[in-house]
Amino acid sequence: MQLAMIGSGYVGLVSGACFADFGFSVTCIDADAGKIARLNQGDIPIYEPGLDDLVRRNVAAGRLAFTTDLAAGVAAADIVFIAVGTPRAGDGDADLSHVEAATRQIAAALDGFTIIATKSTVPVGTGDRLEALIREVNPAADFALVSNPEFLREGAAIADFKIPDRIIVGLEDERARAPMVALYRPLYLNTAPLVFTSRRSAELAKYAANAFLAIKISFINEIADLCEATGANVQDVSRSIGLDKRIGSKFLHAGPGYGGSCFPKDTVALAAIGRRHNAPQRLVDTTIAVNAGRAGAMARKIAAAVGGDVAGKAFAVLGLTFKPETDDMRDAPSLGIITTLQKSGATIRAYDPEGMKAAAPLLPGVAFATGPYDAASGADALVIITEWNAFRSLDLSKLKSVMRKPVLVDLRNIYRRQEVEAAGFAYVSVGQPAPSVLSESRTAAE
Ligand code: NAD
Repeated sequence: MQLAMIGSGYVGLVSGACFADFGFSVTCIDADAGKIARLNQGDIPIYEPGLDDLVRRNVAAGRLAFTTDLAAGVAAADIVFIAVGTPRAGDGDADLSHVEAATRQIAAALDGFTIIATKSTVPVGTGDRLEALIREVNPAADFALVSNPEFLREGAAIADFKIPDRIIVGLEDERARAPMVALYRPLYLNTAPLVFTSRRSAELAKYAANAFLAIKISFINEIADLCEATGANVQDVSRSIGLDKRIGSKFLHAGPGYGGSCFPKDTVALAAIGRRHNAPQRLVDTTIAVNAGRAGAMARKIAAAVGGDVAGKAFAVLGLTFKPETDDMRDAPSLGIITTLQKSGATIRAYDPEGMKAAAPLLPGVAFATGPYDAASGADALVIITEWNAFRSLDLSKLKSVMRKPVLVDLRNIYRRQEVEAAGFAYVSVGQPAPSVLSESRTAAE
């Protein structure tokens, strides 16, 4: 089977390379000629563990190619995937301009019966609109348009693609079923459930999944606030509730709030879709508001750790990307926290293993360091924003020796208070009360 992937970003490139690895012949197409030129030189434009090797192997085997020539790629394909971006539009709704532009181009290039599979995250009902658009551009086109939302996570994208919890295919035209089954055969043989739904259900399922996970994160962040106020420990609470199989332990880590290329835009889009259909998504609205308050709350926590006023103080920041193992800076919590501190007169020296190139244009005034100890040099406090493994076992005595003040603000709870305090640091984390709060709440209870 011949596949064309329109859009060679995080989703298109990973999916294209994985399909090629299953033995399909894949052409990855992108409108960005610079990106395609880099890919053709073997230079992977994004950081995703294992992707270099996967791409190199499949290009060498002749199963994976890159081009800007959409028309040729589409004409030759049995299945065309749309994997272009759907960023946030001004009104919060998903911006479908890239999807619509790609669909017009696909429509004009179709040759023989073709399945068009939307991997981009799109509002419910978009499939109907795209189908009408294709008929308008090319009334003679023979096609079936399916929704095939993607659930991979950046940083673990290849494993997620190859061992997914489920594959969702929303279809209205039965002719698409057998080819989609054949496409995902390597995965369901590997026990991944292949779930067929209506096209609208598949479109909505993607938003519902992301919104639910975002709600979980905001929920535990509010519980963390309550822990700080009452002397409970959010990690104990998380573990206690997460062991309940009905709840599950994932996405119950308190921290600086969710970010990234999906949750922020998808929650806002789902809320807009709900309003448009007169079915308000109040839990989602509240989740968005809770998350929006998180950067300010973290900046206040950092300020409190250095005595309340950050003006003239120097902060070392470790971790800028929205999560570890990616270079993606889209809607990263670090952006809001750092700019809030800067506005109050703080200076920032930051280090991230993969994200500094993407972060530099977004964070004017930030100095970038060569490593954690270089970032910490002369700092009044060290702030961990993203939990890269490289930050999990820092040499605390070395850190203390280079810092102006030994203060560690751990926004991901990757250290234990006891060990950090034993090394002579003041330690501030999330949802884990300082000893003073504990003794105050005990006194109040007595
Ligand atoms: P991205 O911005 O990394 O990549 C999109 C690519 O599409 C870009 O390279 C762009 O140049 C290209 N493009 C845009 N218009 C084009 C056109 N007309 N023809 C050819 N190429 C075109 O985006 P992404 O992160 O891969 O996300 C793509 C979609 O998948 C979005 O809808 C997103 O919500 C969804 N999604 C993303 C993730 C993720 O982890 N990034 C996970 C699941 C779903």
